[in-house]
Amino acid sequence: MNGPVEPFKIKVVEPVNRPNREKRKLAIKEAGYNTFLLKSEDVFIDLLTDSGTSAMSDNQWAGMMIGDEAYAGSKNFYNFENAVKDILGYKYVVPTHQGRGAEHLMYKTLTRDGQFIPRNMYFTTSKVHVELAGGKMMDVIIDEAHDPENDHPFKGNVNLEKLEALIQEKGAEKIAFINVEMDVNMAGGQPVSMENLREVWKLGKEYGLKVIFDATRSSENAYFIREREPGYENIPINEILREMMSYSDGCIYSSKKDCLVNIGGFLATNDKEIFEKTRSMVVVYEGLHTYGGMAGRDMEALARGLREGAQYDYLKYRVNQVKYLGELLKEARVPIVQPIGGHAVFLDALKFLPHLSREKWPAQTLSAAIYEESAVRSMERGAVSKGRDKETGENIFPKLELVRLTIPRRVYTNTHIEYTANAIKNLYQKREKIAGLKMVYEPEYLRFFQARFEKVPL
Ligand SMILES: *Cc1c(COP(=O)(O)O)cnc(C)c1O
Repeated sequence: MNGPVEPFKIKVVEPVNRPNREKRKLAIKEAGYNTFLLKSEDVFIDLLTDSGTSAMSDNQWAGMMIGDEAYAGSKNFYNFENAVKDILGYKYVVPTHQGRGAEHLMYKTLTRDGQFIPRNMYFTTSKVHVELAGGKMMDVIIDEAHDPENDHPFKGNVNLEKLEALIQEKGAEKIAFINVEMDVNMAGGQPVSMENLREVWKLGKEYGLKVIFDATRSSENAYFIREREPGYENIPINEILREMMSYSDGCIYSSKKDCLVNIGGFLATNDKEIFEKTRSMVVVYEGLHTYGGMAGRDMEALARGLREGAQYDYLKYRVNQVKYLGELLKEARVPIVQPIGGHAVFLDALKFLPHLSREKWPAQTLSAAIYEESAVRSMERGAVSKGRDKETGENIFPKLELVRLTIPRRVYTNTHIEYTANAIKNLYQKREKIAGLKMVYEPEYLRFFQARFEKVPL
């Protein structure tokens, strides 16, 4: 098995440290066995997140030098606006400092107190912004998404029966809008099919409901449609993207993912009313409507990155590099979530460490053990992330107890991927020797960021 050929060569390098075993042991202990609390300089390969961690191209860096830092009407804004119109096909664009800025404006504009927002699985910041606007997010993803072994090709699809039943049960006037995420993050980077988007749009129109996309990973989703959906094998990615977006009234977008930049976001829409409302709000919360919290140079890098990130050769390399890591692990029988997603490989910690009870935090344990073994940084996505039940105060133990290995875009070579796979394979061979953890400090909010642990001897 080989890694995909990189469609670029390297012009600038950033040296990284590879701490020895003794240093790693100490660093993770000092971080309370929480990879969020490690210092970046103690990390050799950083697979914590794909958010804002992309490497920009020479073309993007060149764009940074022609930043027009005018308060109003920067030329980079118009370049960025044109890129969004060309690639996604929407009429109106509102810039924001990052994705959650766009979520705030869009969701507040569309949600009334007590309304419901059906969505194909929640995302952390999306759920918070919907709730702050007085709404409640309801999961309408297909059941297959909750099963780590099911290899449905479009595991991010909306379950149309669930969606329609919810609309009928609550009444259409109680639904704020239908929210569809591309390449669903919390399901493991699983795509939505074009057919499903078309059907959701049709259903929305029947009930007079707006459809809003979280298009953050739409380019990676478009690549999967081309690979997996009959009839799209020879369609250019740009055309696929435009067709996808034609089944919506608007979208929010975190540029920190598929746009290959380190900061930025926007919302886009064909609906004049949404545009006018969000454009008047952006001035209050983000900045003038021609920069929205971004510098001129950031908008130029984003304009260029949106175009580059939608190129077929790049996407093929990108998705296949993630797949390469997953296949190497599968070959060694390491338990992972199937099929391999667009931006990350997820390890099934319950199968990796079956000797640990849920109270010993298997995914947290595994993530810390991977660091100790290799200086590779990953992230827990299981019971620590899920938190406690609001009413009973008890820990919730979700079905999925996972460790996420998220691949930054264009940052690591295939040799880095092989190093990571080998480290996890070695660890898997001595898995019985891995001792669990106990939580010794628990913050009140989003505990996974700051919780601290100690080892419990086997
Ligand atoms: C990252 C992300 C967001 C939030 O964007 P930020 O740029 O981090 O504020 C929203 N939705 C999805 C699906 C994301 O992955």
